[in-house]
Amino acid sequence: MINLVENVKRLKTELPDHIKLIAVSKTKSVEDIKALYDSGHRMFGENKVQELIYKAGELPDDIEWHMIGHLQSNKVKYITSFVHLIHSVDSLKLLKVINKEGRKNDRVIDCLLQVHIAEEATKFGFSSEEVDELMSSGKADGLDHVRICGMMGMATFTRDEDQVRREFRFLKHLFDTTRETYFSDRSYFEWLSMGMSNDYRIAVEEGSNMLRIGSLIFGERYY
Ligand SMILES: *Cc1c(COP(=O)(O)O)cnc(C)c1O
Repeated sequence: MINLVENVKRLKTELPDHIKLIAVSKTKSVEDIKALYDSGHRMFGENKVQELIYKAGELPDDIEWHMIGHLQSNKVKYITSFVHLIHSVDSLKLLKVINKEGRKNDRVIDCLLQVHIAEEATKFGFSSEEVDELMSSGKADGLDHVRICGMMGMATFTRDEDQVRREFRFLKHLFDTTRETYFSDRSYFEWLSMGMSNDYRIAVEEGSNMLRIGSLIFGERYY
């Protein structure tokens, strides 16, 4: 029997205080989430819009819902009224759609730019050049209903810890230089979302301040 509450407690004891822990609850039941909620945990992450909407509807309103999976433009409208942070913004087009839906909901939607740092071709995200081009072009400047609060990245799924570390270090460097160059007067650009169950320790050592952890809390996922 997996003890979710104990797992989260253990992680929080281990982690420095400034690090936010997102419990990734994808494929897990509303009951499991409620058990963690009742223990005081409030931050949950989902990667599919439909599942996110369903769970948000079943669970208390003061949960912070984090959208961490690939987001299609045509589905943005279903989550903009309540989502806390979208980690997976990977194009200017998507940012513009989120801005439009944010305006309709009279909200400013907090977003992270997803950066492609892994070797795998399948992972979404901007390249570092594209981040630079997006910021230097000023194309995101007029978007009053989104707020770019930092970056998210996923390392290659490998046993090679040096590679994982290099990828995280690369992202931290991009995060730091982007903040200095484009956000020096905007303190909300502060979140670096990197680190999952099997690489979170390396991520923390490399400067992450937001972890997305699923299986280490909830156990293996069965699809
Ligand atoms: C599933 C998922 C996680 C959590 O993965 P675990 O290995 O179970 O911790 C983190 N980030 C994203 C984007 C995910 O899809």
